[in-house]
Amino acid sequence: MKFTRIGVIGAGTMGNGIVQVFAQAGFSVTMIDVNQTALEQGLGNIGNSLSRLIKKGTLSEADRDATLSRISSDTHLGAVADCQLVVEAATENPQIKEKIFRELATIVPADTILASNTSSISLTTIAAWVPQPQRVIGMHFMNPVPLMQLVEIIRALQTDDATHAAIHALSVTLGKTPVTVKDGAGFVSNRVLMPMINEAAFVLYENLASAEDIDTVMKLGMNHPIGPLALADLIGLDTCLSIMDILYREFRDSKYRACPLLVQLVAAGQLGRKTKKGFYAY
Ligand code: NAD
Repeated sequence: MKFTRIGVIGAGTMGNGIVQVFAQAGFSVTMIDVNQTALEQGLGNIGNSLSRLIKKGTLSEADRDATLSRISSDTHLGAVADCQLVVEAATENPQIKEKIFRELATIVPADTILASNTSSISLTTIAAWVPQPQRVIGMHFMNPVPLMQLVEIIRALQTDDATHAAIHALSVTLGKTPVTVKDGAGFVSNRVLMPMINEAAFVLYENLASAEDIDTVMKLGMNHPIGPLALADLIGLDTCLSIMDILYREFRDSKYRACPLLVQLVAAGQLGRKTKKGFYAY
């Protein structure tokens, strides 16, 4: 499958990073968000990220301008009608994603690949929302997208070999390392990561140590580049809570129950870096 035009749905933390890596790799990208402010912030983030690369000497001004010229943005899903691939990176909420996928299926050609960047929602369930489920796949980028090497590819039960091969090859073209996993709640990355973050929240909730000390134990003791609580703030505490809730629902196992402190921080709108306050203040 040859890709020239790619649509990305959602301009938030992940969406704008995904748009940047596609545009830098030479693809024309249309970024969609229901929120005009999110689109403007997304474009601003991409501009800032490219400027940092110029300062580091790894990108020329001409390449920055060319990258930006390949990006367009819109608040209407219809603007992705001519894309060969759409990557959905909207809010981690099954109702929102179902509406997007059902609508996308009526907009794009029947052979356009529909990928989701979901952290935890079953790809098999997502695939069942569209008439040609064999073209649905998980393309799970890591945060921050331009810097992180991994793309976790998730095959839904329905995904066909051609769709998988195309997304695997595309991930390599982006300079990433793809790892393919089967569909299961949280896949591999969040099945392992999120319970660790949740446990760190419990340790803080039980007042066993400060946030800084918990993170220092994991950084210096376990050689993690960033502590679990700082990482949760980077991911977004609402996203972390959604993932824990999905693991809990899917496995029906109390070991996945979200820490009450995480629930409270989300209820208070303290979502981490994106709201300047979470486990830490920014
Ligand atoms: P975010 O809250 O930063 O951004 C989500 C964006 O989606 C918002 O700008 C919102 O306006 C937009 N949106 C909501 N409904 C929409 C709709 N119907 N159409 C178009 N846009 C819509 O969230 P995020 O952290 O970027 O997460 C996006 C996806 O990526 C989620 O599925 C999440 O699980 C996944 N993910 C997140 C991370 C992370 O570290 N944050 C890592 C990997 C995967």
